[in-house]
Amino acid sequence: MEKTLIIFKPSAMERGFVGQIINRFQQKGLVICGIKMMRLSEELLREHYAHLVDKSFFPVLLKSMMASPVIVMCLAGKDVINVVRLMTGATNGRDALPGTIRGDFSASNQENVIHASSSPEDAAAEIKRFFKDEEIFEWTPANLKYVYSELEID
Ligand code: UDP
Ligand code: MG
Repeated sequence: MEKTLIIFKPSAMERGFVGQIINRFQQKGLVICGIKMMRLSEELLREHYAHLVDKSFFPVLLKSMMASPVIVMCLAGKDVINVVRLMTGATNGRDALPGTIRGDFSASNQENVIHASSSPEDAAAEIKRFFKDEEIFEWTPANLKYVYSELEID
């Protein structure tokens, strides 16, 4: 099944929303296949946010992402990259629709509680960036046949 990477940003850690957000992913039927806590270094963040290093807000983004330890998580599911982006909502929490994670937990364009991979290429690179191979678990929960129909599981 497809995999994606989530980061619980310091805004989720400090405000204590990790459990509620994980709940949403589990309720949707997505499978946790890796999870750990870490501090993000400037070097790692420059790689992860390479598309943003020249933006004026980058120093603020760096500081915000290093303000506390974070939790990184790998989720698996059918079309999970798109499903998680839809659940995450728009970048700016003030534009994110109610019902989305950012829509319900964020009122900021910066402090928007989670990162979620935005394409198959990004997801593959990001999972490699944050996890060692042996930290990713390939497993099939017994109830997966009630999450997807037999037509949807390959
Ligand atoms: N960001 C910001 N100001 C902006 C755009 C982005 O501070 O104008 C931060 C914000 O925390 C966002 C992150 O940079 O989540 C990555 O930006 P991206 O455009 O990749 O948005 P995302 O994929 O997180 O929705
Ligand atoms: Mg992005």
